Amino acid sequence: MTLKPILSESEITANFAEIQRPMAAMEARVEANRCLNCFDAPCIQACPTGIDVPAFIQRIAEGRDVAAARLILEANILGASCARVCPTAVLCEGSCVLQDRDEKPIEIGRLQRHATDVALASGARLMTRATNTTGKRVAVVGSGPSGLGCAADLAQRGHAVTIFERADRPGGLNTYGIAYYKMTPEESLAEIARVAELGIEIRCGVEVGRDIAGAEVLRDFDAVFVGIGLGDGHRLGIEGEDLKGVVDALAFIREVHSRPLHEVGVGERVVVVGGGNTAIDAATQSVRLGAKEVTIAYRRSEREMTAYEFEQEIARADGVRTLFGVMPFAVIEREGRVAAVRLAEARAGASGRIEAVAGSHYDLPCDMLLKAVGQERQSEMLARIFPELSHGANGLPMHDSATGATNLATVFVGGDCANGGREVVNAVGEGKRAALAIHAFLTGETVATPLQPSRLGAARARGAGLERPIRAHEAEAAWRSVGRSVPRG
Ligand code: SF4
Repeated sequence: MTLKPILSESEITANFAEIQRPMAAMEARVEANRCLNCFDAPCIQACPTGIDVPAFIQRIAEGRDVAAARLILEANILGASCARVCPTAVLCEGSCVLQDRDEKPIEIGRLQRHATDVALASGARLMTRATNTTGKRVAVVGSGPSGLGCAADLAQRGHAVTIFERADRPGGLNTYGIAYYKMTPEESLAEIARVAELGIEIRCGVEVGRDIAGAEVLRDFDAVFVGIGLGDGHRLGIEGEDLKGVVDALAFIREVHSRPLHEVGVGERVVVVGGGNTAIDAATQSVRLGAKEVTIAYRRSEREMTAYEFEQEIARADGVRTLFGVMPFAVIEREGRVAAVRLAEARAGASGRIEAVAGSHYDLPCDMLLKAVGQERQSEMLARIFPELSHGANGLPMHDSATGATNLATVFVGGDCANGGREVVNAVGEGKRAALAIHAFLTGETVATPLQPSRLGAARARGAGLERPIRAHEAEAAWRSVGRSVPRG
């Protein structure tokens, strides 16, 4: 990128400070005591990894933060990062029954962060290492959230797991694609280092299909999990798109996460094309790097914007302006680089497609244009690695959504490359579900999935009754009845 850094190191550091304040111990206990410990709690149902939210909150209320963290990590090995990056307002907190009483929902995300931060800082052993080995080898392609979720569960069941990661550092989206003010790459890497202590080998800089053939992986491993995320950003398909200063938003965010922040170049006037969370991240990080004027250009209405409302709120607070109902028509060049983007009013045509309104064009000056209009699916990459893998018309590998199983007996898939792009927590859950299926495939031993909240809710009912808090021996019976080990602590 030829753009230059704008701010000094100290200014940048201040700008990229995290937004979400961690909880103090007393604040966490007070907040935890507001929880009603609901029967068949909707917050569990809303969590894609089935974390037993009321149970971990109860432990925080009792001052047992480490025990709370163990419970969280048993369900979600990336519970610390999910506490920072999950859209809790639309998941667990969005389902909290307190809202029915016009009260603020329990701050589940911040409580989860509190428990995991305290526990990780304490140095306590939080994750259970396997005590036996099965003699089976599993390859995991991709070290993002789904790959880590799968690898951790398999390692804990005694399988030898090797992760192949093409990038220099592990973590995928968690390390390279989360806005800095939510989670830093260092926090992601520290979490992964702890996961790797389960005995997982992570081979970075090794791309399956380039450095090692897919056939070799199939031959050398008893099973394979593929969680390679999504591909490059879509092109705009307009004149001038390849000019200097026109950058894929994901590449920009990746650069922000790969270099010292004060060395990352940014434009003074930035336009971001798109309306999703990537567009918001690209816009807010441009502001924090020192861009003077940042505008999001979105072709649909404010109501149709796919970025979460709380993300949009951050952008508004950062002074980002959003133009609705406009689409890029061409990139205007001056001295070999972008000087403006030509926008046109956008309307839905007779076919329902968004079209430019004739004669409505105008030029919006900018020295950086960021493209955030979605990502390619990985059908080409997957076809190169495993030519026999079947794909649907939607470009996604055909698979059983409950297990990740594909038409190849030993190959399972999960995360964004299989679901087309969802949240980090969905990817972790899918990785874990695939791990259970892989374990059953390798050993013939079926494990009751811990990711069926309705079953867990029923078990809580059997153990706890309807009105009173769950007791320890009742909780044990409930956990055992759904095939889960009893959390210690
Ligand atoms: Fe607690 Fe809200 Fe979950 Fe009920 S829904 S258990 S009040 S966090």
